[in-house]
Amino acid sequence: MKILVINCGSSSLKFQLIDSETEQCLAKGLCERIGIDGSMITYAPEGGEKEKNVTPMPDHTEAIRLVLEALTNPRTGVVGSLDEIGAVGHRVVHGGEKFAESVVIDSEVLAAVEECNDLAPLHNPANLIGINACRKLMPDTPMVAVFDTAFHQTMPEKAYMYGLPYEYYQKYKIRRYGFHGTSHSYVSKRAADVLGKAYDDLKIIVCHLGNGASISAVEKGRCVDTSMGLTPLEGLMMGTRSGDIDPAIMEFLAHKEGKDIDKIMEVLNKKSGVLGLSDNLSSDFRDLEAGYHEGDANAVRAMEAFCYRVAKYIGSFVAAMNGVDVICFTAGVGENAPIVRTFVCGYLGYLGVELDQEANGKRGEDIVITTPGSRTTVMVIPTNEELAIARETVRLVK
Ligand code: AMP
Repeated sequence: MKILVINCGSSSLKFQLIDSETEQCLAKGLCERIGIDGSMITYAPEGGEKEKNVTPMPDHTEAIRLVLEALTNPRTGVVGSLDEIGAVGHRVVHGGEKFAESVVIDSEVLAAVEECNDLAPLHNPANLIGINACRKLMPDTPMVAVFDTAFHQTMPEKAYMYGLPYEYYQKYKIRRYGFHGTSHSYVSKRAADVLGKAYDDLKIIVCHLGNGASISAVEKGRCVDTSMGLTPLEGLMMGTRSGDIDPAIMEFLAHKEGKDIDKIMEVLNKKSGVLGLSDNLSSDFRDLEAGYHEGDANAVRAMEAFCYRVAKYIGSFVAAMNGVDVICFTAGVGENAPIVRTFVCGYLGYLGVELDQEANGKRGEDIVITTPGSRTTVMVIPTNEELAIARETVRLVK
């Protein structure tokens, strides 16, 4: 079956068409600047030339119409007609406490996702727009919602509650949810498969280090803790997000800088993390790595603080699971920055981690990067959220 995977943001839309039998990506692309001047669609069929077209996209329905047109284009398309697309899998960021698993989309599900909009005001409305646009253009094709939060719904209460008045949980469902769940689930399962071990027997820590970054503790195939919280702002230091800070800093800064709460949130979401800490050098680890090697104090400061925070979270999750068998690195930084893995593993001598530097230098494959004698196994597993969404979609519609 051919599955269209859609990841819809407020002004962008990423898509992949995946053959579920071979698990090959047949075509992929991106619509950018939807609803903004200069919208463009990038489309690349597997093994073919990438095409970029600037074309008006006043809304998401038009963007999806263009995606479907590209996929069925007689010259560069990969399907003869839309009937060949068996189902659509949609990434949905927040499923609240309602969704501990992926679901087939119907009007009840749409209403329940809408109820979670408050918890992810930047993401969920955009996801819903994408789903509705797709339903309009492909009314007879089954659609599945795959939630970023679902995998973390197995966390015990002691891990997901904040030390706040309980009534806020009762009234508003303020608690920790966690994100990147599709990636944490995919990577932890894949690690067990690659090692040839039973998923249920392992204690795994997954470090998803990308522009957004989170860590999770997976024990016997169930997530028991994760670093992101009510929103994706909690936890690790990220590209531009602060991660954990003393909440009193918000009041302090508001007074000192004369900023209101929206402006403070903008600082924490968009101007902090390694970008802010490097005094605006960059949020991109390629730049930070280059700066680090040149001895740039801003790059050194950001890189060291980022890696230290990752190592501290690993330590806390070792405590949560009373041990760890496998630590996995994934996502843009985790997969492509050996220097980050080296620095983080430098803190893990107490776990008997011995890095194999040659393996650590490799890229683009599932690989163990510790020596055979290392007490804890460390791996790099490239994440593939689209494939995970396609698998979930097939599982539910078959
Ligand atoms: P993601 O959010 O998973 O797409 O990750 C994007 C981030 O990965 C970028 O902002 C970079 O910081 C990082 N990244 C991508 N390629 C490299 C690379 N070759 N070396 C270091 N960092 C990289």
